[in-house]
Amino acid sequence: MSMFEDIPVDVGVVYEGERIRGKDMQFEFGGPNIEKKFELVQAREMKEIQDGKVIIQGPDLKDLEEGKSYPLGILVEAAGKQIEKDLEAVLERRIHEFTNYVEGFMHLNQRYDIWLRLSKSSFKKGFNSLDFLGKVLARLFKSEFPIIEKIQITFITDPAKIESWHKKALQIYEARDARVRGMKDEDVEEFYGCVLCQSFAPSHLCIISPNRVSLCGAINWFDARAAARVDPKGPNFMIPKGELLDEIHGEYSGANEAAKQKSLGEVERVWMYSMFGHPHTSCGCFEAIAFYIPEVDGVGVVDRGFEGTAVNGLAFSTMANQTGGGKQVEGFNGIAIEYMRSPKFLQADEGLNRVVWLPSNVKEKILDSIPEELRDKIATEKDATNTTELKAFLKEKGHPVVQRWPAEVAVAEKTPAEEGVPTEYALPQVTMAAAPGLIPGVGEGFQLIFKNVKIKAEKLIIRREEKKSK
Ligand code: SF4
Ligand code: ZN
Repeated sequence: MSMFEDIPVDVGVVYEGERIRGKDMQFEFGGPNIEKKFELVQAREMKEIQDGKVIIQGPDLKDLEEGKSYPLGILVEAAGKQIEKDLEAVLERRIHEFTNYVEGFMHLNQRYDIWLRLSKSSFKKGFNSLDFLGKVLARLFKSEFPIIEKIQITFITDPAKIESWHKKALQIYEARDARVRGMKDEDVEEFYGCVLCQSFAPSHLCIISPNRVSLCGAINWFDARAAARVDPKGPNFMIPKGELLDEIHGEYSGANEAAKQKSLGEVERVWMYSMFGHPHTSCGCFEAIAFYIPEVDGVGVVDRGFEGTAVNGLAFSTMANQTGGGKQVEGFNGIAIEYMRSPKFLQADEGLNRVVWLPSNVKEKILDSIPEELRDKIATEKDATNTTELKAFLKEKGHPVVQRWPAEVAVAEKTPAEEGVPTEYALPQVTMAAAPGLIPGVGEGFQLIFKNVKIKAEKLIIRREEKKSK
C-alpha cells in the first residue's frame, strides 16, 4: 500500500486476525497487568487541532523494556463540518480495527479495557515509535471517513498524565451510557445494526436498541444512529423494528429480517432479552458472559477481567471460546456490563432476579441498578467458588431462584425440561458437566446419566483432557 510507504511494516486488512503470543511480543500496553488504560475519540473545532499531528506524552516505544507491560492512553481528536459529538463512540470503536491492520500490532477490547501488543519482529523491522502508529491511524481514519477534515492523535504513556485523562475518559463513557438509560425500546421506531465484527465472526450482527447496548459496550443506540446517518452503507445501519412478535423475549420481525440478511441465513430469529431459545449472537468482544448454571437453575455473569475460574469451574477464556464466533449458543450470552442495568436485561429469563453470581467488581459497578432487596442475595467470588457453596449461599440468603428449586429434591437430578429450561438446552448442560473440575474424579472414568432428556445435536464430542503440566 503506497499510502504507508514510510511505515517500516506492512499495513492491511490481512493482519487483522493476527494474534501475538507472550513469547513473541516486544512489550504490551494495557491488558490485565495494567490498571489504567483507555482510548478515546473527541470531536473538536477545526481551529483546536492540527491535522496529522502526532503527540507522544511519555516514553516512546524505543525507550521501553522488552517483555514488560505499560500503561497507555490513546486520544484521537477529530474535526470537520459534519463531525459531531454523537460520532465519537463509533469512531472510537474503529481504533481497534485500524490498529489491528498494522503488521505485528494486536489490539483487543475497547474503552477502559484496551490491550495492545507489538511483536518482536515488527519492532526489529523498525517500528520503534508511536509516531508510526499515529500516522497509520490518522490516514486510515481520513480515508474511511471523508467527513474527518482534521485529525490529531495523542499517545499518553506517562503514568502521571494517564491518571487524570483516565478519570476524564471514565466520566465520558459514563455520560454516553447514561444517555440511553431513560429510554425504552418501545419509544423508538428503529433499532440499529453493527457488523464491524463480521471480519472475525461472519454470522454476527449486533442489534442495538435503547435497552440493549452492543455487547462490546462501546456503541449504544445514539452512537449507531449517528454513524448510520453519516454513512448508511457503512458497518452501522438502520433496522426498522417491524412488528413486535414477542414482547417478553424481545422478538421483532425487523430485527429477525436483519439478522437473516446479515448472517446470510445462518440466524433466523433473535430474542433480544433472553439467553435461551434464540439468543443474540456473540462475536468475541463481549465485556462479559452471562452463563446458565444448571446446578442452581440460575445465571452467572463473568467479566473479561476476572482471573481464575468462575463459580461453574470454567475460566472466562474457556467460556469465551464456547460463546463467541457469531453463533447462537443457548445458555451462554456475550453481553456488555451496561446491559445489566437495562430493565430488559434477560427479561424473559427473569433478569437480575435470576442472577446468582457475579465477580465482586462487576457487582460493585452495577450495584445501584440491583434492587435493594436483592443486593446481598447475589453471590460473588468471595461468597462462593463452586456450585455447592453457591447453592448453600443462595438457600441461606433466600435468593428468589430458590423458589424454582423443587422442595428438598436435589436440583441436579431434575431434567432441564422439568425446570422450565428448553429441552434442547440439555446438551450444553452435559458438556458443562463433563468439563474437568465439575465432577469429582473426572479423568479416572466417569458416568453420565440421562433421565428423560431429549437431545438435539449434530454431534457430541467427549474428549479426555490432557493433564496440563505447569
Ligand atoms: Fe459492532 Fe457489536 Fe462488534 Fe461492537 S461488538 S464493534 S457493536 S459488531
Ligand atoms: Zn466483536
